[in-house]
Amino acid sequence: MTRPLWAPWRLEYVGTADEQEGCIFCLARDGPDEEGLVAHRGERAFVLLNKFPYSSGHLMVAPVRHVGEFAELEQDEIVEIHRLAGQGMGALAEVYGPQGYNLGWNLGRIAGAGVTDHVHLHVVPRWAGDTNFMPVLADVKVLPEHLEETRRKLAAIWPS
Ligand SMILES: [Zn+2]
Repeated sequence: MTRPLWAPWRLEYVGTADEQEGCIFCLARDGPDEEGLVAHRGERAFVLLNKFPYSSGHLMVAPVRHVGEFAELEQDEIVEIHRLAGQGMGALAEVYGPQGYNLGWNLGRIAGAGVTDHVHLHVVPRWAGDTNFMPVLADVKVLPEHLEETRRKLAAIWPS
């Protein structure tokens, strides 16, 4: 059962993703960690916090390369994206202690992707009592903790 929560910031984001200048992943990749909410950088992939999260600690793992087609990901990008997702769950476990995770790819606007031309893997921490799996993609939580504070904590505790 989905509870439709009012989340104007996310609606605004989905509405303006097309009009935004530049790719948010490439901007985060090229800018300072604090500005792009980058929690960790690898060789071929990096991890950033979702500015419009579904739950506290909602991470996205993206290839360094600007690529929109899932099938065009290279072997070492695929491997590193998943390794970073695993490390991200390790960091999240330390900071938030979630009870589970959803990992997922939203490919195409119809599938819920806000950004369609730079693929990324969502890592969404889950707790008992939050909404169930599929509706998480259309649902939003109100977050008490400041995103930069979350980024700082995760970056500091990131497992090597
Ligand atoms: Zn990009």
